[in-house]
Amino acid sequence: MKIIAIGRNYAEHAKELGNLVPKETVFFMKPETALIKNNQDFYYPDFTNDLHYETEFVVKISQVGKNIQEKFAHRYYDEVTMGIDFTARDLQRKCKEEGLPWEVAKAFDGSAPVGKFVSKEKFSDINNINFSLKMNDSLRQQGNTGEMIFSIDKLIAYVSRFVTLKIGDLLFTGTPAGVGAVKVGDHLQAFMEGENLLDFYVK
Ligand code: MG
Repeated sequence: MKIIAIGRNYAEHAKELGNLVPKETVFFMKPETALIKNNQDFYYPDFTNDLHYETEFVVKISQVGKNIQEKFAHRYYDEVTMGIDFTARDLQRKCKEEGLPWEVAKAFDGSAPVGKFVSKEKFSDINNINFSLKMNDSLRQQGNTGEMIFSIDKLIAYVSRFVTLKIGDLLFTGTPAGVGAVKVGDHLQAFMEGENLLDFYVK
């Protein structure tokens, strides 16, 4: 499986990092070794001094697809959850300055904790789901899937022009404003419509 992650998909977040609001979808990938499941601890890596959380709505692909039309994209995913797109912001800054790929900042082991999956049928409108992140019991990020610049179905259509989607692949759909640094000992909890789906510690 692979993880496809979208960059700059919420206008306020693009602005907080000093980026322009994109006209075209930005995506990158993380390997399977980035996954952390079952609320296991995340270990702070030794190659960064500025590790940021990015809370993201995550979609699990349920059918193989290539060149998927936007109007059919909803047939290609059945479950959703919350995930963290951990980012070594110091390394990413350097990559951006030098025009280099982002893998060292985004694709490292453990950089993609994902929560418990729930059926999308639980929700009446996939484009109106509230989610949030609490760190050490204080609210850090809040978003709604309706605030995405490119909707989930648009993302699936776009990405599948370039990359065949396979069963079990995960799509991280971008983070809203409010990203910030974590440190050892922090407790992260991500919620979807109030339900705690992801809950882990930084060690
Ligand atoms: Mg992200």
